[in-house]
Amino acid sequence: MQPTVKNESRSGFWSDLALWKKILIGMVLGVAAGAIMGPDAELLKPIGTLFINAIKMLIVPLVFCSLVVGVTSMQDTRKMGRIGIKAIILYLGTTAIAISIGLGLGTVLTPGEGLNMVITDSSAVGKEAPTLVQTLLNMIPKNPVSALAAGNILQIIVFALGLGISLTLCGEKAEPAIRLFESLAEGMYKLTGLVMKLAPYGVFGLMAWVAGKYGMDILLPLIKVIVAVYIGCLIHVLVFYTGLISTLGRLNPVRYLKGLLNPAVVAFTTTSSSGTLPATIKASQEEMGVSKSISSFVLPLGATINMDGTALYQGVCALFIAQAFGIDLAFSDYLLIIMTSTLASVGTAGVPGAGLIMLSLVLTTVGLPIEGLAIVAGIDRILDMARTSVNVCGDLMVSILVAKSENELDGSIYNQTSSHTKPE
Ligand code: ASP
Repeated sequence: MQPTVKNESRSGFWSDLALWKKILIGMVLGVAAGAIMGPDAELLKPIGTLFINAIKMLIVPLVFCSLVVGVTSMQDTRKMGRIGIKAIILYLGTTAIAISIGLGLGTVLTPGEGLNMVITDSSAVGKEAPTLVQTLLNMIPKNPVSALAAGNILQIIVFALGLGISLTLCGEKAEPAIRLFESLAEGMYKLTGLVMKLAPYGVFGLMAWVAGKYGMDILLPLIKVIVAVYIGCLIHVLVFYTGLISTLGRLNPVRYLKGLLNPAVVAFTTTSSSGTLPATIKASQEEMGVSKSISSFVLPLGATINMDGTALYQGVCALFIAQAFGIDLAFSDYLLIIMTSTLASVGTAGVPGAGLIMLSLVLTTVGLPIEGLAIVAGIDRILDMARTSVNVCGDLMVSILVAKSENELDGSIYNQTSSHTKPE
């Protein structure tokens, strides 16, 4: 009888554990197994390859369905015209800056340099760099079905955006199609969840292989990735956002920083901008004086399409992986990373770990080895905490700027701390 009881409690312990903890355990055990087994740890690699293949399977349908839904869910932008456009320009513009900061830090800190990892899957080797004009022309698929079949992400993104906009413009007639995409997207999110259950084992297999092959040299670069992402996130909020608040909004940036504390902490601990939404809306209305109509439109939109922290993280990780595998990136690759991440952020769900899946999309587009993903996966939760906070801070910043420009920012609430400090 006793062994049964033991077994039950053991499986309970493992199944009750949060996914990120399992992944972390998978990584630690993988490194330990690799250190003990040395090059023999290659035996464990197929477990990792299984996980990588499952991720690859998700990319095309997930991106396609979730992007179409991302766009059709913006129906209100037509009703709210100006506000929607202002918010979207700010959201996408700041996302492009965020990824540039990530790329900058990845270049300066070179977290992956000296790792000399070898690509085993030759199909993943970097493509010949196309020119900028070619890249732009190639974005339009001549045949969307072959773009889907070939997994040409950029073309898929463009087609999905076009289809989403058109479905929205059709109004009632397109409702069945919109509902179909919504339910397909739900199915893909579910499948993503199921595939992610394999992550701890996949990460274990790949980390064992990496540590067995490259020794403990892998740990320092991972710490550098964490440092680069955290520094980038701080710069983006403390310098760039506050700069926009004071220059574009002509507002006191310190108030913004004080007001964002609550939602930022919730985002940091839950790693979900959608889950943080109630806290974000509350802070924007009660701490910053953004009107109800603006905050209830701009913030849910931001939680869905605005992912500055995620984009920044993708910049750092893409460079880390390129450096680790000794792949030189051309200028057009950098532009491709900026473009893909910015557009992909529209389709990234505000849930824990979504950015990791989207990273696979960036890697595929630029032709970087997707194995790199599993190496980053081990530390993903730590990175997710920082990037989700930045995602939420960005949503708040945009809600303030849009409200200010529409004369819908209550100055007495925004400046409430200073008025509190004034003697009565
Ligand atoms: N967890 C992030 C968010 O909810 C998305 C991501 O994984 O990057 O905003």
